[in-house]
Amino acid sequence: MIKPAIYLPLIVLLLTVAGFNLPARGTPSSVPSAEDGGEGLGISAGRPAILAEPAAPEPLQVALQAGHWKASEAPDELSGVRRNGGTRGGGKYEWEVNLEIAELAAALLEEGGYQVEVLPATVPQRYKADAFVAIHADGNNDSSLTGYRVASPRRDVTRKAGELAEVLAEAYGEVTGMRRLPVATRRMRGYYAFRYNRYRHSIHPTTVGVIIETGFLTSPTDQRILVGNPALAAQGIFEGVSRFLGPAELPRLLPEPTP
Ligand SMILES: [Zn+2]
Repeated sequence: MIKPAIYLPLIVLLLTVAGFNLPARGTPSSVPSAEDGGEGLGISAGRPAILAEPAAPEPLQVALQAGHWKASEAPDELSGVRRNGGTRGGGKYEWEVNLEIAELAAALLEEGGYQVEVLPATVPQRYKADAFVAIHADGNNDSSLTGYRVASPRRDVTRKAGELAEVLAEAYGEVTGMRRLPVATRRMRGYYAFRYNRYRHSIHPTTVGVIIETGFLTSPTDQRILVGNPALAAQGIFEGVSRFLGPAELPRLLPEPTP
């Protein structure tokens, strides 16, 4: 007599070959749309679609740079950054305010399924992410100046930074109720972290980058949010970035080790 135990693995094998595992992978719903993944797929854009199709979608990556944070550690090519300590107001240095907003926004984005990195003043060389937001605060001798502003790089091969800037500016204004300043200065559009053609420590040309001046740290009005309620500023940044990127596309069926 042949033992039944021998048949069991054979049956399992036959079922597998017969395609019983097919519905679990490659279903249309698991394929990221061009809408969701367009920003991050610059490198694979030339490949045939069938090869570029991942088994499980990767979460979108967001980088939030806390302006002036650890500026003294900047490399020689960014010696100007070392000397720029940023503004201050409301009992805080600018980097402290930028870092707090960045960390609060990062927590919200992570909850939303995005992969997030909070960066100091020095960006890793040729840094890649689906969205990069440099967070700063303005300062002026005139404490009556209020408002926020957002700018995209002067040179932008992604052609998406303008859209991110617009969506972020709109969301930040809606959430915080702050006044939007239309002026994007030369300094903002030529921000060092955008200048990959000049500095090695900058975003990769395929990274969609913007810079936000979250308000005037020298204004008692704006301090109410920047110092008194940074969670609101963070919420505004979260709304803007997530509206621009769309769903984070976390794989829902595959268990993944959490870091
Ligand atoms: Zn700054």
